[in-house]
Amino acid sequence: MSQVRRQLVAGVAATATALAGLGLAAPSSASATSRSERSPASERVGRYETKTPTSRGYGGAVTSVDPEASRIGLRVLRRGGNAVDAAVATAAALGVTEPYSAGIGGGGYFVYYNARTGKVRTLDGRETAPRGMPRDAFVDPGTDQPYSFSDLVSSGVSVGTPGTLATWHSALRLWGKSRLRKALAPATRLARRGFIVDSTFAEQTEDNRERFDQFPATRRLFLRDGQAPKVGSVFRNRDLAATYDRIARRGPAAFYRGRLARQISRTVQNPPKSSNATLPAPAGYLTPRDLARYQVLRQRPTRVSFRGYDVYGMAPSSSGGSTVGEALNILERFPVGSMGDGDALHHYLEASALAFADRGAYLGDPAYVDVPLRGLLADGFAAERACRIDPDHAASKPVPAGDARSHDGRCDEASRTAEPQEDTENISTTNLTVADRWGNVVDYTLTIEQTGGSAMTVPGRGFLLNNELTDFSTEWKAEDPNRLQGGKRPRSSMSPTIVLRNGKPFLALGSPGGSTIITTVLQMLFNRIDRGMDLQQAIAAPRAAQRNTAKVTAEPEFISAYGPLLEGYGHSFQSAGDAFTSKSQIGAATAIEFGPRGQLTAVSEPVRRGGGSALVVRRSR
Ligand code: GLU
Repeated sequence: MSQVRRQLVAGVAATATALAGLGLAAPSSASATSRSERSPASERVGRYETKTPTSRGYGGAVTSVDPEASRIGLRVLRRGGNAVDAAVATAAALGVTEPYSAGIGGGGYFVYYNARTGKVRTLDGRETAPRGMPRDAFVDPGTDQPYSFSDLVSSGVSVGTPGTLATWHSALRLWGKSRLRKALAPATRLARRGFIVDSTFAEQTEDNRERFDQFPATRRLFLRDGQAPKVGSVFRNRDLAATYDRIARRGPAAFYRGRLARQISRTVQNPPKSSNATLPAPAGYLTPRDLARYQVLRQRPTRVSFRGYDVYGMAPSSSGGSTVGEALNILERFPVGSMGDGDALHHYLEASALAFADRGAYLGDPAYVDVPLRGLLADGFAAERACRIDPDHAASKPVPAGDARSHDGRCDEASRTAEPQEDTENISTTNLTVADRWGNVVDYTLTIEQTGGSAMTVPGRGFLLNNELTDFSTEWKAEDPNRLQGGKRPRSSMSPTIVLRNGKPFLALGSPGGSTIITTVLQMLFNRIDRGMDLQQAIAAPRAAQRNTAKVTAEPEFISAYGPLLEGYGHSFQSAGDAFTSKSQIGAATAIEFGPRGQLTAVSEPVRRGGGSALVVRRSR
């Protein structure tokens, strides 16, 4: 069962007023002349950070996909900061080293366990559709036909009002020990001194070369001489350092109001394409007023109990908490732990398909559509849905959604028409997990949507704008809860999750990966809790995502290990493949497990996305 309470965090507006009250000057012009640059490999301003996929120890932990970012978070913890301070500092650093996955041009969801109160709280910092965005914004007025998905990807029309900076500010004000200025300082230094390009960064740039080339400001920032940076070279982003500095001095109002806000809006409304651009890059609707009115939402998490654990997730506008939660409730009806691989994985795939059917039917921004969250997470509803699982045969997909508004736990459930499901995944976005010495925990997923977002850099400011509005259904249907509406948050799959046992943290985890985020988090929980794997194994294990589609999308290692076995149940497979990066990987998770006597196991990916970096304050001997 879950309840959701939504509450505005008057972060941005309040800050602007406070600045005025203090008589501080209005934001003024930032230098547009600072340039980012890369130095040759020979320039010795940094070094490769060692990647540490797993660390065990005490006193706090940080895990993210990037060694520089994790190290920055760890230093905050060592200097007395709490988990929220470290999470914001780590996220700001990821804005430097992972600019194609996350940054102040995007949004995300922040889940926090407060050790003092024993409560889990969340912040919804999702991007919003501009208020003036019409419902036919995804239709090309020239042809009267919908824009193709790839035209929407690199465009102004897919840019939502960014929520990331407001999330950092709100999290620090509510639960942090430090101010934004302090939290941004290490990332600002990192942007200025630069980091050493690894193969993941070089590949991501190369994969986006064509898109980035369309926009001179992006080309200048990321493609000097038209080329992706070389592995081993130093990448600096002085523009971003200047932007962070400006925000540090003036607060989030420096972003959400004034000159930078106007510049962001101009970039969206008039995409700064090169004269020989080949992509249409349709213009968007974001106004300075949208930025000034942006609000982070503070709300209760979703909660389900699963085999004695309390699993807390992100409520709508994300579909993460409800879909992971519903699938766990369904799985809980079966003794999966005592099943062999074939039966256990069959139940995992079928439970996921059922939960995805309901996600498609009901999930959207609850400020705009009525989401029956209580029903979706009810044990009685899960009991009805579990009746649909044939222990020996995979159901034909797509399976229909159930009736989450009226359920009695019996097997004769009413169901709706089966709807074809989306089948997208990409390996953008990033997740970080932090714990501090006081027992506070953060799991935070943040994104600019596609790897490389909209491909539009705000000229001279060092960051990319998101293309999050592509998460709305691209075709407008009145009955679709995820239809485009001005001011609305597009449905997300981000699933930052904190699991408690007897009221104390047991596990915190999350991942990127589009709608495979949901299956990745679900599969890791299933691996850890039901299949007896330790956390390292649970993360490293090959992944499969059944999102109510005819074929299960899976990593090649999963298909070779279990494909023949599961084909016996009627499942069929397609290899995971990111259309934009040609990677056959699903997700890039981070997690922390809490053992007895304060022991922490911090884990990141050993292989996916080049491997991550999990660090602890004091290592176990
Ligand atoms: N935009 C996606 C979502 O919110 C996250 C980006 C991704 O990982 O694909 O669900």
